[in-house]
Amino acid sequence: MSALAEQVARLAEMLRRAEYALALTGAGVSTESGIPDFRSPGSGLWERYDPTIIASREGFLSDPARFYEFWRERFAVLTQAEPNITHRVLAKLEERGLLGGVITQNIDGLHRAAGSRRVWEVHGSYREAVCIRCGYRLPIEEVFAKLEEVGEKVPRCPHCGGLLKPDVVLFGEQLPASFTEASREVAQADLLLVLGTSLEVYPVAGLVPQAASAGARIAIVNRDPTAFDHLADLVIHAQLGQVMAPLARLLGLELG
Ligand code: ZN
Repeated sequence: MSALAEQVARLAEMLRRAEYALALTGAGVSTESGIPDFRSPGSGLWERYDPTIIASREGFLSDPARFYEFWRERFAVLTQAEPNITHRVLAKLEERGLLGGVITQNIDGLHRAAGSRRVWEVHGSYREAVCIRCGYRLPIEEVFAKLEEVGEKVPRCPHCGGLLKPDVVLFGEQLPASFTEASREVAQADLLLVLGTSLEVYPVAGLVPQAASAGARIAIVNRDPTAFDHLADLVIHAQLGQVMAPLARLLGLELG
C-alpha cells in the first residue's frame, strides 16, 4: 500500500470508530469547485481589490460602492459553483451516521447544496443580505437584481434606508451565534476532521486545540502544513479529491 493509501485507511478507521465526529472545513474544500480562496494572495482578486476594503467592516462602511463592485463579481462565481467530491462525501458520511455535521468557514453554501443537514456556517453565508441598521434580511439575488434595475451602486434597506451587507463575517466583526453552537458541539465530539484549512483564522482555528484538549482525536487533510499539525493524530498533506475518492470507496459510500 502506498503511504497515502495507508493514511486514507487510517482515516476510514477513525471515522468508523468515532462516536461523534465533526468536520471543520475551509477554503481548500471549495477551490475544487472553482471558488478561489479570496483571502490568499495570488487568487487574482487581491491584485484588483484592496482587501482592507472588500474584506473588512471598516472598508465596507468607508467605500460600499467599491465593496459591491467586488461582491458583484464574486457573487457571479458563487452562484455558478457546484459541490465537489469532498462536499458529497461529507453529506454521505452524515447520511450513514458516520459524521455528526460540518462546521464551515466557507460562505458558499455548498455543504447544504450537497445534502449536508447539520451545517454551522460560522463565517456566514453569501445567500442573504442584512440591513446593518435594522437587521432586515433578504435574499442576495434580490439585492443584485435591484442594483441592476435602478443602476445604483449601493443597495439600501427597503424599510429604513440603511446599508445592506452580504451576511458574511468581515474582519472586525463578531462571529454569528452559529459559532457558539459549533463550539458547543465540538466539546461533545470525539473526532474532529479538519479539511482544507490552514487554521490561521481565529477564533475558528481555536476549535482545534479546544477539541484536542477535550480529548477528541484530530485528523487533518490539507495540501499544506497547518498551524495545528502537531496536535493531530493523523495528518495527510494531499489534495482533498485524492483523499475523498478512496475514502468513499473504503467506506462503501455511493456517491451517485
Ligand atoms: Zn433596515
